[in-house]
Amino acid sequence: MNKIYYFDHAATTMVKEEVLKEMIPYFTISYGNASSIYNIGRNAKYAVECSRSKIAKAIGANEDEIYFVSCGSEADNLAIKGICLANSDKGKHIITSKIEHPAVLNTCKSMEKQGFNVTYLNVNKNGEILLQELENSIRSDTILISIMYANNEIGTIQPIEQIAKIAKKHNIIFHTDAVQAVGNVYIDVKGQNIDALSMSGHKFYGPKGIGALYIRSGINFEKIQDGGHQEKDKRAGTENVPGIVGMSKAIEIANKNLDEHIDKLTTLRNYLISEIETYIPNAILNGDRTNRLAGNVNFSFPNADGQELLLKLDAYGICTSSGSACSSGQESPSHVLTAIGLNQNLAKGTIRISLGDENTLEDVDYLIEKIKKIVNNKN
Ligand code: PLP
Repeated sequence: MNKIYYFDHAATTMVKEEVLKEMIPYFTISYGNASSIYNIGRNAKYAVECSRSKIAKAIGANEDEIYFVSCGSEADNLAIKGICLANSDKGKHIITSKIEHPAVLNTCKSMEKQGFNVTYLNVNKNGEILLQELENSIRSDTILISIMYANNEIGTIQPIEQIAKIAKKHNIIFHTDAVQAVGNVYIDVKGQNIDALSMSGHKFYGPKGIGALYIRSGINFEKIQDGGHQEKDKRAGTENVPGIVGMSKAIEIANKNLDEHIDKLTTLRNYLISEIETYIPNAILNGDRTNRLAGNVNFSFPNADGQELLLKLDAYGICTSSGSACSSGQESPSHVLTAIGLNQNLAKGTIRISLGDENTLEDVDYLIEKIKKIVNNKN
């Protein structure tokens, strides 16, 4: 098979070998149900609890504040629905932003159908929410602020500490969808005053089908799925033990190498941006130039067709994305690009390149050469 040049790490990442190695025994040897009391069940339970502890440590939480779920989308659903349902006696108003992932936006829409009121904050041209608009949107019945840590399309990192400070001042619960941030930025939920945080294993070299939700102890939230009493009765369903073990190993590795990871990707990202701007002068960089995820590059090429560009790059073995993974194949312009003020023409000619650990300078040069060729020669 020809080499694959993978530049779509915001969509998903490969499972690291050390991660896979750690998971295998929980498929083949200690495959017991973590609720069973015999030996292989107890081994599984022990692995789940060790993993919980590793994940808590990686984000500065306590073990009993981590709940395992099946993915980032479920973590967002459990956080928003669970918190709203348990706190509706205090109010029914939620504040979020216009550039959230559908896992948050559609969950908020679903809460609207249940009688909740949602304010969708605007963002500036770099994709940052405006703190003054946030303050102005707070009402006496606001119970939840849910703002993503970093955007999945344009990589913009939100002013999390300031948002948390505003939420705390008004006694409002603050949830952040950190699916793109975990493994890419330093997170300390206590130091940053974050009340709830969603993560997903497959975004930081762990397996797919596993996620976690941190909820600060003392915050009331309701389960949203009926069934058994797993996860302290907050999330029914047999635990995905290999997934949990893999995700905890992946976060441990990510945190250990975080400085190096950020340095390497920032260097590659800045080089890629500067080369594209040099050779394709009408290219427009979306998102903030520096306040963005180390691995995120998002460009609009006027009059280009992002889908066509993506397919032509694919023919060279290059994987990129024309929008967020979940909305690719969709014709309408991305809600994120629309929210930062891009017109339809520019939004249509946009590609996202998300770098990862295995990318090299040679890989990036290959990518630049092919983008230049396709965009400038239109072939
Ligand atoms: N939130 C953000 C910001 C994401 O980028 C994604 C996935 O791309 C999700 C939530 C959903 O995560 P999952 O694919 O694990 O359901």
